[in-house]
Amino acid sequence: MNTEVLGKLLSEPHLFKQQAFIAGKWISANNDQSFAVHNPATGQLIANVANLGAKEAEAAIQAAHSALPAWRRKTAKERAHLLRKWFELIMAHGDDLARIMTVEQGKPFAEAKGEVAYGASFVEWFAEEAKRVTGAIPSSTWTDKRMMVLKQAIGVCVAITPWNFPIAMITRKASPALAAGCTLVIKPAEQTPLSALALVELARRAGIPDGVINIITADRDRSIAVGKALCSSPQVSHLSFTGSTPVGRTLMQQCAPTVKKVALELGGHAPFIVFEDADLDAAVQGAVDSKYRNAGQTCVSSNRFYVHESLHDAFVERMARASAAISVGNGLDEGIVQGPLIEARALQKVEEQVADAVKHGARIITGGKRHPLGGLFYEPTVLANVKPAMLVMREETFGPVAAIVPFKNDDAVIAAANETEIGLAAYFYSRDIGRIWRVAEQLEYGMVGINTGLISNEVAPFGGIKQSGLGREGGSWGLEEYLEMKYLCVGL
Ligand code: NAP
Repeated sequence: MNTEVLGKLLSEPHLFKQQAFIAGKWISANNDQSFAVHNPATGQLIANVANLGAKEAEAAIQAAHSALPAWRRKTAKERAHLLRKWFELIMAHGDDLARIMTVEQGKPFAEAKGEVAYGASFVEWFAEEAKRVTGAIPSSTWTDKRMMVLKQAIGVCVAITPWNFPIAMITRKASPALAAGCTLVIKPAEQTPLSALALVELARRAGIPDGVINIITADRDRSIAVGKALCSSPQVSHLSFTGSTPVGRTLMQQCAPTVKKVALELGGHAPFIVFEDADLDAAVQGAVDSKYRNAGQTCVSSNRFYVHESLHDAFVERMARASAAISVGNGLDEGIVQGPLIEARALQKVEEQVADAVKHGARIITGGKRHPLGGLFYEPTVLANVKPAMLVMREETFGPVAAIVPFKNDDAVIAAANETEIGLAAYFYSRDIGRIWRVAEQLEYGMVGINTGLISNEVAPFGGIKQSGLGREGGSWGLEEYLEMKYLCVGL
């Protein structure tokens, strides 16, 4: 496949963009510098995307700053209409967006379509929510003064997003920001700029004015300078970042001198606990859902499976059977459930974790090696006889490996689940209502799936505690991130 072929795969070829978008114009980098984007399923070159730097990042901030007064002045209803139009265009071009995503990110086409709908749901939700921003009138403590609280757009915002959900991680930030009256500069990941560019093209077609939404594309090396420019600018009021915990820490530090509001959606390392009263079939299904979606490359992927000793052997056997039945391949092919990993580094990390586990006594029940297809494909893998000290139990795998450990009692398993600096998502299966409350309250996580392996949607508060981040995305909480309070005190 070459860069023209991707365009030909689309019913609307003009959604295939390789330039960045600043102040309503598609722009190339100085001297036409570009970086290559490859299809992880085939290794083929699919695009050469503008490789911008700090100077262009500053131009994008300037564009967002210039567009802010007029955008903020619009009524919430006017902004809601434009967002609604954007939502409709995303849904109307769902197949094309999903094709672009599969080709640059690797997830199967059906899953990519699911992400397009999930991503669009944030635009729809915040288009509606935009009209419901309300302030307050506290009771006055003075007879001769009255008080009011206004909610106002925070200003120019920056969104830095990862490759694993190339559309949803953008809409989860962009739609509340725009709904609140903020303007935005987006920096998508090096591996998946094409989904982001197509999304922004649809925002342009929806009539979102020039400068309100800008996108800076850059490769891994230039991202550092771009990130510094975005974080250090006094014109930027808010940074929302989704990605790894180490990069989140760096960006937070870079935002400190200008005291920006920061929202961080960082790494996960989810425990998945099966108690002795669980419905075993449902637990296996939930485990498969939460483990293998996006080839295990989601921040809420289950990473550590704790199964009560009375169910352990049966769970391992059924999980292995379900895992071995997963069809692996190019996500554009019919019936594929698991695509490739994103890049060689990711494959290496999975291999290292499995090798470390085997070296320390784990048993491979199924999988455990690269897939016969070669390239970046890895077999769905189940490991048993796993010990807490193994790498796979201590670090986020971000790959299709289920490591299973037996446990004896509730207190011990809750302590093991909480023994990490990570606090994003956790899952457990039980039918005992008392245990459900006890365990849910004791798990130190921002999100807990109970008798389900799939929890994300646009109305719930998505986010983590501990070192998994700050702030929440989705629901009315997602909009609050982009609003400042202003207190007015009026003498009568
Ligand atoms: P990453 O390396 O932190 O990269 C994420 C984004 O940050 C990319 O756009 C990347 O750009 C950019 N970036 C990296 N270093 C930067 C710097 N110094 N300055 C400015 N930007 C910089 O994360 P990843 O490996 O792509 O994503 C996987 C991680 O994200 C996992 O830990 C996962 O759990 C987490 N995640 C969390 C959530 C959540 O909601 N909590 C959701 C999805 C993923 P380049 O690509 O150009 O380097």
